[in-house]
Amino acid sequence: MTTAAPQVAGFRQRAAAWLDAVIRPAGLRDYGATPAVQDAPVARAWQRMLFDAGWAGLSWPVEHGGRGASAAEQAAWAEETARRNLPRGTSLTSTELMGPSVIAYGTAQQQRAFLEPTLRGELIWCQLFSEPGAGSDLAGLRTRAVATEGGGWLADGRKVWSSGAPFADYGLLIAVTNPEAPTAGRFSFFLVPMRRPGIEVRPLVQLDGQVKFSEVFLDNVRLEPGDLLGEVGQGWEVANHMLGVERLALGGHALRLEEELRELATAATRLGRSGDPVFRQDWTRLLTETRVLRWTFSRAVETPTGKPDNRLLSVVKLAATQLEQRVGDLPEAVAGPAFAAGDAGWAARALTSRGATIAGGSTEVQRNIISERVLGLPREPRGAS
Ligand SMILES: Cc1cc2nc3c(=O)[nH]c(=O)nc-3n(C[C@H](O)[C@H](O)[C@H](O)COP(=O)(O)OP(=O)(O)OC[C@H]3O[C@@H](n4cnc5c(N)ncnc54)[C@H](O)[C@@H]3O)c2cc1C
Repeated sequence: MTTAAPQVAGFRQRAAAWLDAVIRPAGLRDYGATPAVQDAPVARAWQRMLFDAGWAGLSWPVEHGGRGASAAEQAAWAEETARRNLPRGTSLTSTELMGPSVIAYGTAQQQRAFLEPTLRGELIWCQLFSEPGAGSDLAGLRTRAVATEGGGWLADGRKVWSSGAPFADYGLLIAVTNPEAPTAGRFSFFLVPMRRPGIEVRPLVQLDGQVKFSEVFLDNVRLEPGDLLGEVGQGWEVANHMLGVERLALGGHALRLEEELRELATAATRLGRSGDPVFRQDWTRLLTETRVLRWTFSRAVETPTGKPDNRLLSVVKLAATQLEQRVGDLPEAVAGPAFAAGDAGWAARALTSRGATIAGGSTEVQRNIISERVLGLPREPRGAS
């Protein structure tokens, strides 16, 4: 037990007591990293309750309205919310991606305008990175922001897979501002209001019937100088900072898997399948791997310096998302043909878990990152940049 353990235990106890006592807004469900369209109003109400009770922005510094919680406390929060089938906030993009980036790169004015209103649930954000021809190869993105004479830019392009875009108030946009420059200086980063003229959002229906993704078209969209996050040409650095935070957040989702496995064991007993040796073996293997991953996550975030070990977290993101998919597949083994027609929650989990190994960097790309940046193996061949 580390010296911080009693503090974490106290935090967990207070969190559990609050979560047990709180009267949930009607219709609140665990929608995962992003609410579907119909969840958005209740997600805002939930975020407001978290803010009022001091549970919003756990990782953010206190001076920016957050709680300044340690990584171990954040993990405890993730587990306690999972245990009660509750989401952690409005959306991962809003509270876990936007916040740290605006804190690191934003002006005082941007921090005042965006941080606390987001924690209060008044602002929801979407991430405008991926394009039809640029996902893993993000540096190949084509959306252009051309400087205008009077200051500011005009943006044109097409984004895709933008989670939460139909109800988002602001977008986190990366666009080319200097096509001649090498990757490091080619892009700039903007905080763009989604209701600005020229932005059209076309929702996409997912495999599980929910609407979380969208295509976003930008047609001569005016970007003001105050929309710029960081400096002109600093967009690649800002985007990579955000992707690093995203991988940490996605790896943290593994903390919810043990709860899903517990639910499955209960269901297996109810369905008379808990004696099935194959199910027992698969379940036990997954629980063991989930526990190992949980401890690896703890080792990565509870470091002597207090700074997360990003090398280990890369491995956690890779393993956690693959495990999520295998846990998602297990209900079918329990319920058999009743699976698809029966508990809709299980079928949805199995379907949405397919995306876990793609979001925030696919498994193959994650393996490249680990081999090159963690193990120091030779870089794979790349085009000129
Ligand atoms: C649930 C979910 C939420 C998302 N939310 C957002 C969002 O809010 N905003 C946003 O901008 N994007 C979002 N995305 C998009 C996501 O970032 C991209 O899907 C991802 O980066 C992969 O890009 P791609 O889909 O273009 O696939 P591609 O890059 O075309 O990859 C296709 C296949 O080729 C493989 N591949 C590609 N390059 C290599 C390589 N160098 N070596 C080996 N294999 C390779 C990939 O692993 C993959 O299997 C989301 C995706 C998911 C699944």
